Amino acid sequence: MSGSEEEWRALKPREPSPSQCCGGGCQPCVYDVYEQQLARWERARAARDKGLLVEGRGESGNSELSPDAFTAFSLSWVRQLTEDTYQCRFELPGNGSLRLGLGQHLVLRGVVNGLEVQRAYTPISPGNAEGYFEVLIKCYEAGLMSQYIKTWKEGDTAFWRGPFGGFPYRPNKQLR
Ligand SMILES: Cc1cc2nc3c(=O)[nH]c(=O)nc-3n(C[C@H](O)[C@H](O)[C@H](O)COP(=O)(O)OP(=O)(O)OC[C@H]3O[C@@H](n4cnc5c(N)ncnc54)[C@H](O)[C@@H]3O)c2cc1C
Repeated sequence: MSGSEEEWRALKPREPSPSQCCGGGCQPCVYDVYEQQLARWERARAARDKGLLVEGRGESGNSELSPDAFTAFSLSWVRQLTEDTYQCRFELPGNGSLRLGLGQHLVLRGVVNGLEVQRAYTPISPGNAEGYFEVLIKCYEAGLMSQYIKTWKEGDTAFWRGPFGGFPYRPNKQLR
């Protein structure tokens, strides 16, 4: 049981700005995550118990990818393939695998000039690749996330959540 009104206000989740929505139709979208966090904050404040805020603070330190919270992944290498495209490999600790389905994408979070942006990227590595995943990113001159990606160096950490989307596919079957 603790906290002045000022402390509780400081802990209140902030509504995402439009730049934080990647526009990829994610489930849950950043706005859904915000609603969940706000409801959790309201319950915690009513009970005057900050311990109720601990779950799902929006970032996780382990390697398990989640649609709700960003997870830190280490950039093992980055290769510039053309003037504006970069192939980037991220490490999955413990030789883990994202086990992505066909066409599934992830959402990357970046901060550019103090503005948080989120954009969708579709890994190009096999869905069952072990110990890593790779993305191929085209950077745009005026692109916000593009500016952040161009700063990447090996060993940097980037925050991802997902997976989202995908296509239902069964060999030799037409799915409606
Ligand atoms: C489901 C999904 C999966 C995606 N997967 C990938 C992927 O694997 N690799 C990848 O590189 N991108 C992918 N994208 C696109 C990516 O999410 C970003 O939109 C892209 O990286 C540009 O982001 P930005 O913040 O740099 O540009 P923004 O700040 O959003 O855009 C600023 C300016 O950049 C230029 N620009 C941005 N996007 C485009 C475009 N598509 N065509 C032409 N000009 C553009 C325009 O001038 C625009 O005004 C995917 C998008 C979706 C929805």
